[in-house]
Order: sequence, then C-alpha cells, then structure tokens
Amino acid sequence: MTASYVFRNGSELLARCAEHKMTIWEVVLNYEIQMSGSTKEEIYKKLSDRLHVIFRGIDAAIENPELSPSGMVGKSTPLLATAVKNWKEVADGLLLNETAVRGMLGAIATGENNARMGVILAFPTAGAAGVIPGAIYGAMEKFKLSEEKLVEMMLTASGVGIIIANTATLSGAAGGCQAEVGSATAMAAAALTEVRGKSPETTLHGASLALKNMLGLACDPIGGLVEVPCIKRNGIGAVFSMAASDMACLGIESFVPFDEIVSAMRSIGDMMSPKIRETALGGLAVTPTGQKVAKKMGLIQLGSNPCSK
Ligand code: SF4
Repeated sequence: MTASYVFRNGSELLARCAEHKMTIWEVVLNYEIQMSGSTKEEIYKKLSDRLHVIFRGIDAAIENPELSPSGMVGKSTPLLATAVKNWKEVADGLLLNETAVRGMLGAIATGENNARMGVILAFPTAGAAGVIPGAIYGAMEKFKLSEEKLVEMMLTASGVGIIIANTATLSGAAGGCQAEVGSATAMAAAALTEVRGKSPETTLHGASLALKNMLGLACDPIGGLVEVPCIKRNGIGAVFSMAASDMACLGIESFVPFDEIVSAMRSIGDMMSPKIRETALGGLAVTPTGQKVAKKMGLIQLGSNPCSK
C-alpha cells in the first residue's frame, strides 16, 4: 500500500510527521508529490521561481519607490530601507532588532509593490502577500539561510495554509482579515520555527500563538483597495510571526490546540458583519479619512459597494 501524506488538520499533520518520522516541510513536500504527481525537483524549481518573484518584488519597491495611484501608500518602503541600510545609526533609537525591521521592510515593500501594480506572489492571498516574504527576508539574513532552506520555509508555511484553507478560510471576504493576515502570520510563524530545527509540535505552537493573536481582525480596506490598513498590517504581521515563533522556540506552548483555534477563527468569521468582510462598508473604511479617499477616487458609493452584491 502506498504511504499517505494527506492531512486535513493539525492533528493529522502531526500524525503524518510521527508516522513517517518527518518534519512538517517534508510531509508537505510528499503531500504535494502525491497530490500533483510532480517530482521533488519540479516542486523545488517551482518554489524557487516563486521565491524569486518575492525578492524581485521587494527589490522593485526598494529601488524605485513610488506612490500608488490612490496616493495612500508608497512612502514606508524607503523609510524602512534607509533604516536597514544605516542600521548602526538608527539602532539605538529603535526597540526592535534589525531582523524585525528587515521583516517589516520585506512585508511592506511587497505590499507597496502590489499597490503600484507590480508582480507579487499571493502567498496565501494578495492582501496578505507581505507577511511570509517579510519573515523570510528577516530570517534569511539573521540565520544566513540557503535558498534550499527558504524553499523549506515555504513548504512549512504551506502546510499551515493547507489546513486553514481546508478547515476554515483564507479569504477576507469570508472570514475577515484574521483569515488573511492572521493566517499568513501563522504560516510565517511556523516557517520561522521549523527552520530553526524545532519539532513539528513546537512549530504548530508557533502557528497557534500567532493565529490566536489575530482572531477577530476585521477586513476594512479603505476604498476597497488592498492598501490601508492592509500593507502596514502585513508589516506588523511579520513582526508578530517572529514574536510567536520566538515564544514557541523558548518552549512556550499554546494552551488551545491549533485545530481548535482554526475552528474558533471560522466561527468568529461567520459571526462577523458583512460590513467588515471586504465590502469597505465598516471599520477603517468608513472613518472620515476613509470616506474622503473613497470619494476622491470615485471608488465606492457607500451602501452600493459592488463587492457587496
Ligand atoms: S484588510 Fe481585508 S483586504 Fe486588507 S489584507 Fe486584510 S483581509 Fe485583505
């Protein structure tokens, strides 16, 4: 009988890891081989190509910073890039370390590149596309990670994403931003934990600690654009993923198991008003500032948002 690498939830993922004596990324790689019929080499090549999409996007925003057509975003990347470049000069005045600030840079540059119509990797979604790149961008420098290790991080993150997609949702329209940036933060926390050689259980604790902290997060994009609050939320999500991963690496465990947290996220999403589920009819989208921008852009007539129909 062919060995199975299929899993639907966290318990099954941990069971597969134990059964095959594998890490999460190894199980996910074999899952992908089994599901897609691709070879290990083909999967590595695809992920490596996607990794380069991430890096090209970050570089593009750093090298040519420009405002998005709405004018709402585009100024944060150069500020963060300058801080990282002149780290010794700014370090004393900041609370976070260089890895965290690089993480914010990777995340926000990805979002700002998206806002100005650059190519990004929607991992797991376009709105939450910055968190995992930010985590990778910070960790690769700190731990001097090879490209192979970065691909493994993508596989670990994907394992968590598969579970959330299967048992809840990754969509802001269905579950609010907890499902988008929250899920991406959990995926990134898992990747940051496993790449440091931690066990599958500890890795899932990292994901759990991150996701718990994001529960209830509204999706309220100004003007219906994936810019405000999305992009800076990704930057802070990258730092959250580092905090959750460090907690897990120090032995701190999530009291509530991962599968129960995902289930809680789904039920919170079901309880959320459609006004805070990507329709731009609630939250930050309807603040005076949000309405002013939407009106100026001619994007949304409040109460008749095309997304809500
Ligand atoms: S606020 Fe909404 S659109 Fe923006 S990242 Fe979150 S889920 Fe996506």
